[in-house]
Amino acid sequence: MQTQFTIEQTDAQLIDTKADITYDISFERATRHCISIRMSIRNNIGQQVIIKSPVWIPGSYKVRDMNAHQHAIIITDAQGTPLMWKWLEKHVIEIENPTQSDILITYDYYANDRGVRTSHVNRNHAFIMPVACLMYVEGRLDEIHHVIINKEHVNWEIITTALSPIKKEQHGNKIAFGALNYHILIDSPIEIGNHRITTFDVAGSIHEIAIIGQETVDMEWISGEIQRAVEIQYEFWGDLPYDRYIFFLMIGEGLRGGLEHLRCNVSAVEPTAFLDKTSAQGMMALLVHEFFHTWNVKRIRPIELGPFNYEQENYTRMLWLAEGWTSYYDDLLSYRSGFYSRDEYLSVLAQSHLGKLARVPGRLSMSLKDSSFLAWTKLYSMSPDQQNQFPSYYTKGGIVALLLDILIIYKSGGKHKLEHALQAMWNHYKADGQKGFTEQEIISIIEQTCNVSIQKEFDEWHNGTDELPYQTIFTLIGLDWKEQPMHVPQDWYGDYRPFHPRKAQIFFGCSVSEDHGKIIVREVEKESPADKAGIGIDDELIAVNGKRINTRSMLINALQSNGTEGKAHIIAQCDGRIYETHVQLIAATSYSLKVSEAISHEQEQLLEYWLQG
Ligand SMILES: [Zn+2]
Repeated sequence: MQTQFTIEQTDAQLIDTKADITYDISFERATRHCISIRMSIRNNIGQQVIIKSPVWIPGSYKVRDMNAHQHAIIITDAQGTPLMWKWLEKHVIEIENPTQSDILITYDYYANDRGVRTSHVNRNHAFIMPVACLMYVEGRLDEIHHVIINKEHVNWEIITTALSPIKKEQHGNKIAFGALNYHILIDSPIEIGNHRITTFDVAGSIHEIAIIGQETVDMEWISGEIQRAVEIQYEFWGDLPYDRYIFFLMIGEGLRGGLEHLRCNVSAVEPTAFLDKTSAQGMMALLVHEFFHTWNVKRIRPIELGPFNYEQENYTRMLWLAEGWTSYYDDLLSYRSGFYSRDEYLSVLAQSHLGKLARVPGRLSMSLKDSSFLAWTKLYSMSPDQQNQFPSYYTKGGIVALLLDILIIYKSGGKHKLEHALQAMWNHYKADGQKGFTEQEIISIIEQTCNVSIQKEFDEWHNGTDELPYQTIFTLIGLDWKEQPMHVPQDWYGDYRPFHPRKAQIFFGCSVSEDHGKIIVREVEKESPADKAGIGIDDELIAVNGKRINTRSMLINALQSNGTEGKAHIIAQCDGRIYETHVQLIAATSYSLKVSEAISHEQEQLLEYWLQG
């Protein structure tokens, strides 16, 4: 049953369908964190059948050994007679099938990793990431695939997934879902348990919120906030590209991050996300971000990103579009939805975007495009030295989007902005969604839609490593950008990571962790006072000015006591050997973006045009 490549699916399309590739999933070994999978493949052609596991998860640019968790594989024909098979590669199985029989593959998948891109099962629930544990048949990705959730061994009532039900009413222990093809199947995680759900309607589309975790959440509050975020994006894009959409919200200690999908997203936050307004703003920005991806990257996408090659890296130089622009609009749309005041939004730009990039020495070493291309080994490698090596395409890509937006607004005399280009790209997708965009197509769409020329700045900002011209651009709409020595107490220290509030004005240039009474250096910023003093990653800081230090706050207090002009004497340890050094202390830098007191009427009009939808 071969169909054309598509990434769009509505529930109605799957009702009463049949599939030759199905996965029965059961949980008889849930307490052992095992998902039991029985894959059946019918209508086989040829003497051999090749089965593969993807080696990466779309949206997460890293090659992973996901099928390392797969075990107890048994392969038979429909009568249960074993078939000959062997591994061709660590993710590829070849099955001998001389009689072209139906094939049954049973295996267990050890699922004990909580997160947005991993599967997890225990006695309380199962979260299944199909891309991690469901294999595909070579050459048959575009067929309809069915998943049957077997609840026989568990007392779980609720199944939440963007996969479509196969029957209008489904009862009993076996509930069947389907996808038009393997691409949609593995893009659709499944939560089975007794989780809390709520729904709302926007523009005729159903939205479900599923809370995963044991925390208590004010469902009415979260539903109201998410509904407002959906409405803002509905206005932004003009329509919603789905009949049904799910927000999976995982709440738990140590959980963070998000992953976008075609008809859902999975976002993960710590329980503290609900403690105060700032944390809640961060959580809402994450939800807005992942939801924005429904258009930008899942549908409006770099040409290299879909159809995917699941067997290797899918390189693209355009993650500034996929992640950078999304990072820019997540906060701008949070502001427009009323979640930030104007001053709060400008402060978020100054601290979390501009100030953040300013503390990344690697911004002067690698271009935005290279940072995107090498995401597979750079951003996703999580090296403690990464700040010194390259800028994140999230941070710098978002700032470049901001600068482009202001430039377009200025050059078009307040008639156009960057989002008009995005909306034009959305219309292109709707006319022909088969392939993604090239960089030159995007530049042309911006220039034609907004009637401006931006090629020169575009090239400089995406290809170059020079400082971005903040003040030149911000002045166009009457904003003042300031980087200056900090003279007022701030609640952050050194490398900008937020710790508990303190009066910190010293810039030391390294982040540390407390490890059983020891202070261990985790990151060192290139050319910072710590770097110049010869302090390296993994060194232990033992004493400052003759005082033993055992906690982070003891370190900071000891450094502070010298003031910003002084030198501090440090005793440290590297690789078991004690050394002494002196650190020349300097003042930390503060960053601010504010409306200029001397703003002109024309500038003010452009500023308003930028902020408003
Ligand atoms: Zn993203």
